[in-house]
Amino acid sequence: MIPYLPLNEINAQYEPQLSQSLHHVVERGWYIMGREVELFEQEYAQYIGCKHCIGCGNGYDALWLIFQAYKQMGILHDGDEVLVPANTFIASVLAITHNRLHPVFVDPSPTSYLMEHKQIKGAVTKKTKAVLLVHLYGQNSFSDDIKKLCDENGILIIEDNAQAHGAIYNGARTGSLGHAAAHSFYPGKNLGALGDAGAVTTDDTALAQQIEQLHNYGSSEKYVHRMQGVNSRLDELQAAALRVKLRHLDADNNRRRAIATEYINRISNPLVTTPTVQEASAHVFHIFPLMCRQRDALQKHLTDAGIQTQIHYPIPPHRQECYKEHATLHLPIAERLALHELSLPCHPLLSNDDADKIIDAVNNFTILT
Ligand SMILES: *Cc1c(COP(=O)(O)O)cnc(C)c1O
Repeated sequence: MIPYLPLNEINAQYEPQLSQSLHHVVERGWYIMGREVELFEQEYAQYIGCKHCIGCGNGYDALWLIFQAYKQMGILHDGDEVLVPANTFIASVLAITHNRLHPVFVDPSPTSYLMEHKQIKGAVTKKTKAVLLVHLYGQNSFSDDIKKLCDENGILIIEDNAQAHGAIYNGARTGSLGHAAAHSFYPGKNLGALGDAGAVTTDDTALAQQIEQLHNYGSSEKYVHRMQGVNSRLDELQAAALRVKLRHLDADNNRRRAIATEYINRISNPLVTTPTVQEASAHVFHIFPLMCRQRDALQKHLTDAGIQTQIHYPIPPHRQECYKEHATLHLPIAERLALHELSLPCHPLLSNDDADKIIDAVNNFTILT
């Protein structure tokens, strides 16, 4: 079987440094908000190209903290509209609604599957106060046109960079392009921890200070609480693992790109569409999505050929039971993606042999009529 993402083998690449680093944390005896977190925050801020990085519990919390901080600063208010791509993972939307903000689902571009300038322009109203740019599948969705439109209308740009660590736009990394960005280090992400972990990056010092307190019980001085904060901290153990893996992120992303480029160049089955990529060298291919009208049959064909695949995502947020108040929305691209999308294995350890097998198996797929 060619697994979709063999995390044990992927993490074995970083040994013995990974285990040594974790062992040092155990020996040091300081497990929350210590030296590893401080160094990771500095190193990741520098990698992304931002002044500030605040580690937190997970990617959802990073998003929640950004919206909550803007509310506490009086910049966002209950009921403000936030544009969000309709084909994103549910966490992007939950962070909006849990802050009593109003999500406006935007159908993505039918070719890039991203919410681009055109879609944003069509959705902006006087009530729009923020856009959540999701760099879905590992591809940047920011553009100078979007920035201009948002600046002219006083709209905040928040990035969901959970899937795009290392992606680039005009020489700058995603996560440094908007007002603030949320990063997830869920184990399966391009930069993955050994459990839950996340971070916020921003150049805005006031926002960073707000989040510094908010994520640690509303406190910057022990036992002094200026606001009703939450507990969402990055652990020392996770930070230690992330520091080891960050050093390999660019090389890992390059390997993902090489595999994705083979897929794009050599998958030629007319039943299947490979993704439109703005610029392969800027994309980090967290996910390699194929589109196929006979998606379920293709998935079965690949499983029978010993290839594990996944679907991102089978039910869009507006069709989830938890958002039944949005169920009457008609968002044809997001709905079509949910029916036709299939993700091929695309990770740094995938061999050329396995990539060849995957390409052959996709090209051999036929439908019996
Ligand atoms: C993974 C992911 C998240 C949430 O990250 P967690 O660390 O699992 O909370 C948010 N947005 C997107 C687009 C994701 O892929």
